[in-house]
Amino acid sequence: MKNNSRIKSILQSLNHYLIFFLIIAFVITCCIMLFVTILQNTMGIKFTEDQISAAAKLTFLNVLGFSAIFTLLDGIRRRFIVIRPIRRIIQAAEKLSKGDFSVRVPRVHGIIGEDMFNQIGDCFNQLAQELSGVETLRTDFVANVSHELKTPLAVMQNYGTMLQAPELPEEQRLEYAKAITDACRRLANLITNILKLNKLENQQIYPIAAEYDLSEQICECLLQFEEAWEKKNINIETDMEDGVRITSDAELLSHVWNNLFSNAIKFTEPGGTVSVSLKNTDHHLIVKVSDTGCGMSPEVGAHIFDKFYQGDTSHSTQGNGLGLALVKRVVDIMRGEICVESETGKGSTFMVKLRRS
Ligand code: ADP
Repeated sequence: MKNNSRIKSILQSLNHYLIFFLIIAFVITCCIMLFVTILQNTMGIKFTEDQISAAAKLTFLNVLGFSAIFTLLDGIRRRFIVIRPIRRIIQAAEKLSKGDFSVRVPRVHGIIGEDMFNQIGDCFNQLAQELSGVETLRTDFVANVSHELKTPLAVMQNYGTMLQAPELPEEQRLEYAKAITDACRRLANLITNILKLNKLENQQIYPIAAEYDLSEQICECLLQFEEAWEKKNINIETDMEDGVRITSDAELLSHVWNNLFSNAIKFTEPGGTVSVSLKNTDHHLIVKVSDTGCGMSPEVGAHIFDKFYQGDTSHSTQGNGLGLALVKRVVDIMRGEICVESETGKGSTFMVKLRRS
C-alpha cells in the first residue's frame, strides 16, 4: 500500500517534469533556430532543410537529455541534504505525538543549510524537553495528591473503626471524633488549595483590581492568627506605614498574607517573635514577614515554592506544601516579586514586592 502510493507520487512528479522539459526543450530549440536563421541572413551562409532539421532535433534531444540528467542529480542531492533531515524530524515528531518525550533530533553535519536544520532540531528538542518536564510534573502531582489524600483518609478509617467499639469511654470517644474532624479539615484544606492553585495556573482567575488600604488588610489578616500566636506566646512586632493604598485584587493578596503569617507562626517556637513591616517606596510597596523560627537550609529554600514540597516534616500534618506555591503564583500574577532570606535555627524573612497599581 505504502509502495503503491510512493510509485504513484514518483510517476506524478515524472509526468510534471516531462511536460516541463518538453516545453523548455521546445523553447530552446526555437531560440536556436531563430539564431541560425539570423546567422544565415547576416553572414550569407546557406543551410539545407535537412541540416536545419537535424540541428533542431539534436538541440531538442540534448536539452531533454541534459535536463533529465541534472534533475536526477538534483534529486539525489535533495534526498541527502533535504529529505533525510526532514524525515528524521517527522519521525521524531511522530514519536513525540505518541507520548515518547525522550525522543531527540540528532544534529546534522557537513551539508548545505545545516544551520537551519540544526536550528529546527534544537527547537524540537527544547519542546520535547519542556513537554517531558510538564509530564513529570503531572505524574508527580497525581502521586502527591494521592499520597496526601490517603493519609487523612486512613486516619478517618482507623478512628471510625475504633469509634464503633462498644462501651468506649467518653474521653476516648471525644478524642477519636476530634481526630476524624481534624483529618476532614485537612482534606478540605487540601482540596481547596488544589482547586485554587489549579484555577490560578489555568488563568481561570482574573484579578479584579480595586483601590484599597493595604495597611488595613495586613492588620486584619494578622489579627486572624491572634489565637494561634497567643497559644504559643509569640511576640508580634509591626512596623507599618498607615494608610498605604494599593490597586490590586484584595482577595488574592489576602491569600499571600494569610499563608506567610500562618507559616511564620507555625515555624516559630513558643516565646519567639514574628515581625511584619510595610514600606512604601517610590515605585513599590514592600511587605516583610520575619520570624525567629527554625529557619531553613539553602537546599530547602530552593524548593519551598514547589507544589507539595515540605521542608520541615515535623509540621507536615499542619499543612500540605501548597501554601507557598499558591503565594508565588498570586505574586507572579500581580507581576510582583517574592524572595526569602533564611538561616537554619535563626529564622526567616519573606519579602514581597508589589507594584502600587
Ligand atoms: P506547608 O507549610 O504546608 O508545609 P508551604 O508551601 O507553606 O507548605 O511551605 C513549604 C515549606 O517551606 C515548609 O514545609 C517549610 O519547610 C518551609 N517554610 C515555609 N515558611 C517557613 C518559615 N517561616 N520558616 C521556616 N520554614 C518555612
